[in-house]
Amino acid sequence: MVDAESFKGWAGVDEKACEGKLEFQSFEVKPWDEDDVDVKILYCGICGSDASALSGEWGPVKDSVPQICGHEIVGEVIRVGEKIENGIKLGQLVGIGAQSDSCRECGDCKAHNENFCPKQTITFNQTFNRGNGKGSISRGGFAKYWRGPSRFAIPIPDGIDPAVAAPLLCGGVTVYTPLERYGAGTKAKNVGIIGVGGLGHMAILLANAMGANVTAISRSDSKQKDAEKLGARAYIATGDDVQAALKPHARSLDLIICTSNPPKFPVADYMSLIRPEGTFCFVGIAPEPLEVPTFPLITGTIAIAGSYIGSPDTIARLFKFVSEKKVEPWIQKWDMDDINKAMPAFQRGDPKYRFVLVNTDNGGKV
Ligand SMILES: [Zn+2]
Ligand SMILES: [Zn+2]
Repeated sequence: MVDAESFKGWAGVDEKACEGKLEFQSFEVKPWDEDDVDVKILYCGICGSDASALSGEWGPVKDSVPQICGHEIVGEVIRVGEKIENGIKLGQLVGIGAQSDSCRECGDCKAHNENFCPKQTITFNQTFNRGNGKGSISRGGFAKYWRGPSRFAIPIPDGIDPAVAAPLLCGGVTVYTPLERYGAGTKAKNVGIIGVGGLGHMAILLANAMGANVTAISRSDSKQKDAEKLGARAYIATGDDVQAALKPHARSLDLIICTSNPPKFPVADYMSLIRPEGTFCFVGIAPEPLEVPTFPLITGTIAIAGSYIGSPDTIARLFKFVSEKKVEPWIQKWDMDDINKAMPAFQRGDPKYRFVLVNTDNGGKV
């Protein structure tokens, strides 16, 4: 059991947080509910959404301080309530992703698609809507401890390095969900992954492990060697003339997962890559609306889609898949005490390809 004063973490207090100005401080944690667990945090990944929130892209940081971000949390269960779910036991390793709660009453919750719940709570800076915790703010994993509903603390099976499990919890499941939904390796034999970064590198690893022929698509050829090591069998460097670069690959892909989000994304050019009845799926948020010509959409019978994180059940399936297939995301570890060096490095685009923060004093291993 942790007393409330032990909940300390690295807080964003203004827009300079990502420049290395996170402040270590105590924070108020949600009141205990009997379906909660307390988790001693060992590892936490850094995801693009943490940087978006902490740099003020989602609204002024000052409006909800302290901001305790971090939503790829791995740790050890140190307290369990009387009504816990998932059969969680004391001492168990669990992971918490981008979502920390949902209503449990709507159709999507009842179908265990909690990531579609209209009353969901994301893991940082949002309000809990149920039980004793109603009205309190969710706190993420840039901290020593985490408290929240056990439904969203997913057991980590043996066979996964707990540090490597961290990036699977948001980035990994974000790409795994559409790869699974659209049948990568089965219905969709040929899969294109746009962007070789945090999400893209995991998408290449996972699609390859599912048995798909993977084509990695990036702006320059600087990521080609890495993409091939990750399992890509083809590589397209688009350069400045996207149309010319894509032309030789027309109608070669059944599914494209787009993990990059440049302004004015030329989706019409990329549609030429898709085979009839194929799907182009976005998982990164494009800053500007898309221009989609309907003629090739109709004649190719192409679906343009989006996909949002994944449910707790999907995360559990991802863990099982990764432990069976021995998929290992490429991570670089930082002591969490060095978060004010890690965050600016993340912002510079340094991760190859995911940063994981380690609480060494809680037993995490650098
Ligand atoms: Zn719901
Ligand atoms: Zn994320």
